[in-house]
Amino acid sequence: DYRKGGYHPVKIGDWFKDRRYRVVRKLGWGHFSTVWLAHDRDEDIHVALKIVKSAAHYTEAALDEIELCMRTVSVQEPHVGRDYVAKMLDSFEHSGPNGRHVCMVFEVLGENLLSLLRNARRYGTLRDAAGAARGASGPHDSGSGGASDDPAAAGDRSGDGLPLPLVKQIARQIIAALAYLHGPCNMIHTDLKPENVLVCIDNVEDVIRSELRSDPAYAELRGGAALVQVSRSVANSRAPSPVRAAESSAQSLERDLNDISIAGSPQHPPQRHAPPEPHQGVKVKLADLGNATWADHHFTEDIQTRQYRSPEVLIGARWDATADMWSCACVVFELLTGDYLFEPRSSSRYSKDEDHVAQIMETVAPFPKKFALSGRFSSELFNRRGELRHIRRLRPFPLKDILRSEYGFSPQDARETADFLLPMLEISPARRSSAEAMLSHPWLR
Ligand code: ATP
Ligand code: MG
Ligand code: MG
Repeated sequence: DYRKGGYHPVKIGDWFKDRRYRVVRKLGWGHFSTVWLAHDRDEDIHVALKIVKSAAHYTEAALDEIELCMRTVSVQEPHVGRDYVAKMLDSFEHSGPNGRHVCMVFEVLGENLLSLLRNARRYGTLRDAAGAARGASGPHDSGSGGASDDPAAAGDRSGDGLPLPLVKQIARQIIAALAYLHGPCNMIHTDLKPENVLVCIDNVEDVIRSELRSDPAYAELRGGAALVQVSRSVANSRAPSPVRAAESSAQSLERDLNDISIAGSPQHPPQRHAPPEPHQGVKVKLADLGNATWADHHFTEDIQTRQYRSPEVLIGARWDATADMWSCACVVFELLTGDYLFEPRSSSRYSKDEDHVAQIMETVAPFPKKFALSGRFSSELFNRRGELRHIRRLRPFPLKDILRSEYGFSPQDARETADFLLPMLEISPARRSSAEAMLSHPWLR
């Protein structure tokens, strides 16, 4: 994708915006952009520099993203969720060999919740019991036995979740962020998933500077630092195994880093992580407003990543801010279990959408007939009686029972967790709980 209309080719040490920002290393990438750790010379802080592909289509989307981000920083009224949305600090354009690129500058955050889940499992830090991987296909599917489209990815995801108290903490922050977006910002995220929720690193400048000095293979360490903080916040978790630097293209990076000014006295031995603070909690921020829309003006009807897609979007009916709440319940389940709540597949007999609807019916509730028939795609999925066209035999497997029998939740934890998730999984958006209402749910206390 490094061609005309695509990504901007970036080298460590490159300058942006009249030598204000200097690239230190790569933080990540997405479909639209590459994201870089950069040093801001004016403010003497580190920032995340998102450089968007240059084709007109990406530029337009990026300008919308900037407008939405600006709204989240410009709202005046105080709100509990304001601090849980990643902050945009600046934006500008940059010309390169592949065209003109919109660039956005954000505060630096740590790894996203998907890599946190993977690391939790890899290092075995956060939970001992190996969660039995739930069969990916719904019980109604007696077909191919859960063969995956992408076995590596599926294998990588199934398994351990995070400890309950930690998930409650994260859930409260995500819901607060949604209440802020849906309320004062008047917008809908539409792409809530673990990849788009980033963990904050406490004392981020200290962490970056000491790690850049002591160990240039910063990528692994960044994940490690976040993980240390997370496990500290959970009373009974073990300390993580030491994080090993993976690659040693270290020297060349080190050379690049040499002339980046680093505050603090060189006599002090470099620290691997922020100094321990016994009772600190984990803090997350909702990121990537690249697919967000105004509540009263939708850019597209084609929203949400498959596994987090709401019933109204599946059937092509009207959707609103409660579509984010559906995704939120799916994310919370995934944090608890390490597995997708819904992972639909197509077969020779039915479509992926129909499998998705069937899985929802088995886990949550039947679709009310009037709602089922209210969408643009309803006739492809349902007959006139509101029954699925190709999947006749449903085997209900309620959420509470899944948590108990597949993931070993105690009866009380299973019941309380299901009671918390189900209001966000109301089939009909009109009956689904808002973020504002969920904020006062006792499960989050
Ligand atoms: P998508 O394909 O999801 O739309 P995108 O091109 O819009 O991606 P983002 O999702 O904003 O890009 O960012 C891509 C990745 O870069 C993130 O998953 C994350 O790993 C990293 N990243 C983004 N913002 C930050 C930040 N503020 N701090 C640290 N890392 C970040
Ligand atoms: Mg993203
Ligand atoms: Mg995006």
